Amino acid sequence: MFDKILIANRGEIALRVLRACKELGIATVAVHSTADADAMHVRLADESVCIGPPPARDSYLNIPALMSACEITGADAVHPGYGFLSENARFADILRDHDITFIGPSPEHIRLMGDKIEAKRTAKRLGIPVVPGSDGAVTDDDEAKRVAAEVGYPLLVKASAGGGGRGMKVAMTPDALPQALSTARAEAKAAFGDDALYIERYLEKPRHIEIQIFGDGKGAGVHLGERDCSLQRRHQKVWEEATSPGINAREREEIGTRVAEAVAELGYSGAGTIEFLYERGEFFFIEMNTRLQVEHPVTEMITGIDLVNEQIRVASGGELSVKQSDIVLSGHSIECRINAEDPQTFQPSPGELTYYYPPGGPGVRVDSALYQGYRIPPYYDSLIGKLIVYGKTRNECLMRLRRALSEYVVDGISTTIPLFQRLLGEQDIVDGQYDIHWLERYLADG
Ligand code: ADP
Repeated sequence: MFDKILIANRGEIALRVLRACKELGIATVAVHSTADADAMHVRLADESVCIGPPPARDSYLNIPALMSACEITGADAVHPGYGFLSENARFADILRDHDITFIGPSPEHIRLMGDKIEAKRTAKRLGIPVVPGSDGAVTDDDEAKRVAAEVGYPLLVKASAGGGGRGMKVAMTPDALPQALSTARAEAKAAFGDDALYIERYLEKPRHIEIQIFGDGKGAGVHLGERDCSLQRRHQKVWEEATSPGINAREREEIGTRVAEAVAELGYSGAGTIEFLYERGEFFFIEMNTRLQVEHPVTEMITGIDLVNEQIRVASGGELSVKQSDIVLSGHSIECRINAEDPQTFQPSPGELTYYYPPGGPGVRVDSALYQGYRIPPYYDSLIGKLIVYGKTRNECLMRLRRALSEYVVDGISTTIPLFQRLLGEQDIVDGQYDIHWLERYLADG
């Protein structure tokens, strides 16, 4: 087991990792930018190192500064959290070269899954269903037209290097294809420095369903059921739940078994998420994330398994603590992402928390790094906390969520708490009847 873990992140996820380390008796090192000197992850860690000025590229993304922090403190492993360097294969390479463990999969697996065309090819080879589309990149407009005619309309032009919904354009008809190609190409070039594009059938009313997996790197793989993350705004998840109200036990079992087998065959090590779009009984692979997800707590709530603890075990060469037959999904869990944003306009709302009172009681978990008097810096993501509730049934979970939201007080800044209160008044939400476009439509209708 490790003696000391450096947590290369900030905010609620740095705290989440720190908590797992403490429970394992592992010493912790926090890193922070000058803007985060007063942050809770810094206060709670055993040691801390300032790694640079506020902009993330100079601090949380600054690999030389992080390597120095490892050296100064003698950390023997690094947990990257999510975002920042969590899917950066070069960072994983450099750590490996310095005999420091990256708590995550191998750089090879990160690279493979980071290239969306390669990822899709791999998924297909492993027997995972993919969205019908071009076999690899389309090189010119003539080829694109030919492929498009086979795939059928509407279709989606996507960037191979894509992320965050950028470089993605819908073409409803053949006439719209040239424009979609040129816009997607320009966006991809600007955002990723790589203009390789591919084509997929556009699914009109899918749900976003993702499967949590774990591999031990030695041929074992398990799945921990799914999360439904269909409620999205601008491709950003807003509300996540497990299990999905949209699929049945047989579908869960089938897709789960299939991905667990694929993970084992790949020799994948650590936590990962395989994302699918689901429409009318069919799953279509869209991508694999080779890290811990923001929404991992809902899976923890219904399985009773600590995913960060498991990541650390596996990274230190241990075996998974569970076999597939030990994993039982029980009850229901919902996570609301609390952002420091205006709940109507979604404008960021950094500033000082003049009063802070998080909810508690049965079945309520708050993952955040907030405290009264804390000043939310304007430089980073607006996610400031996650409210996670658990209930024996989805209905109990909804009632508990309503209760917890009514207790939650965050003064001094605007948050998205009122949005969730509104959502709980919508019949579609109560019924679990929503697809990936539901929230955008709802917000557009005011
Ligand atoms: P990114 O890496 O940019 O987030 P993804 O491939 O994960 O890109 O897709 C982001 C979102 O775009 C998905 O969650 C889904 O909402 C939508 N999307 C992706 N592929 C399709 C498709 N073939 N049809 C319809 N919607 C899609």
